[in-house]
Amino acid sequence: MEYSKGVNERFERLRKEIADYESIKGTILTGIEDYEKIAYQKKKILKYLNATEEDYNDYRWQMKNRFTSSKGLSEIINLPDKDIGYINAVASKYRFAVSPYYLSLIDPENPACPIKKQAIPSAEELNDMGELDPMDEKGTAVHEIITRRYPDRLIIKVTNVCGMFCRFCQRRRLIGETDKIVPRSKIQTAIEYVRENREIRDVLITGGDAFMVSDELIEWMLKELRAIPHVEIIRFGSRTPVTLPQRITKNLVDILKKYHPVFVNTHFNHPREITPEAKKACEMLADAGIPLGNQMVLLNGVNNDKFVVRKLNQQLLTIRVKPYYIFHPKTVKGTSHFWVKIEEGLEIMESLRGRTSGLAIPTYIINGPKGLGKTPIMPNYILYLGKDKAAFRNWQGEFFEVENYSSGG
Ligand SMILES: *Cc1c(COP(=O)(O)O)cnc(C)c1O
Repeated sequence: MEYSKGVNERFERLRKEIADYESIKGTILTGIEDYEKIAYQKKKILKYLNATEEDYNDYRWQMKNRFTSSKGLSEIINLPDKDIGYINAVASKYRFAVSPYYLSLIDPENPACPIKKQAIPSAEELNDMGELDPMDEKGTAVHEIITRRYPDRLIIKVTNVCGMFCRFCQRRRLIGETDKIVPRSKIQTAIEYVRENREIRDVLITGGDAFMVSDELIEWMLKELRAIPHVEIIRFGSRTPVTLPQRITKNLVDILKKYHPVFVNTHFNHPREITPEAKKACEMLADAGIPLGNQMVLLNGVNNDKFVVRKLNQQLLTIRVKPYYIFHPKTVKGTSHFWVKIEEGLEIMESLRGRTSGLAIPTYIINGPKGLGKTPIMPNYILYLGKDKAAFRNWQGEFFEVENYSSGG
């Protein structure tokens, strides 16, 4: 097809807008693209644990065989001797557990592996900067397991168990010690609170990891909540599609889909986490009619890079997960090596707009301290807002003006 010179020039200019990304995206591998290496690591793990493929595909086996100290780690990934000492020192202060599956994603040839940074304790965790509960979840707690910070919705924390303990966890305060089973009577009390407060139309079940409780308990909670007429939507927060995708079983999705509208928000932080297993887990949920959202945490050394985030968000859409939020890291004690400047987050947001699908652009959020809540951070596109004129810049930095009238005068 022939296009006029002007049109060609315009297309050329568009191409140039993403030329940098196009030249680099092939070096930021998803777990699907680098699967050969992951499969090799998986083989090593199966051999070390003397296990079968069938064991591996069973989340109970994954949970039972989590690596919880330096023992065995050095057989799977390269660990300098000096690292072994501090892994155990950190693990005695903040819990450490990684599923065999998530461990297999670590690239042993990459000392700066973003998976390793999320999963394996680092000496920097012993740094004392920061606070244990910067969100003051304790202060906004209604009952022990409910946090209510907004008028029409709340979260219920039904467990402190996780498939993996993220090294940057914001709830170290709760995850800190041992697995605590929340007694059903406490959950019942929380559900009673929802029943008595008719303005609560959105209930978020989280933890820990909401899918770390039994199918039976999940079904019971769903049944109870669905019996409350003013509860419109139910959401689950779970990182299992990322850290323990074997947890997304047919039985689980068959339960969830009986109580629609049910939403699941998960937590991918890097394209390498998008593996065939994670894809399958997300597709099973999506096929059951569950809209999936992603809540990324912006982390130094993991994803504070505009191209990593662009690739992550584009690839998430291919597995039917909509990027929902990017969270600015919280100043939780023991996580200072993950902190980033707000400018870095803003640069990422700026580089997404216009250069990729709007669907791949989440909202960047900073949490106000002491429970002040989620606050969006956005590049500024408004240059002037006057009585009857407004001026903007577009995503390419071009200036434009519009009239600012309403029929109301
Ligand atoms: C994050 C959060 C929510 C949900 O916020 P949305 O913006 O609706 O996703 C609700 N309650 C609490 C306490 C939260 O921290």
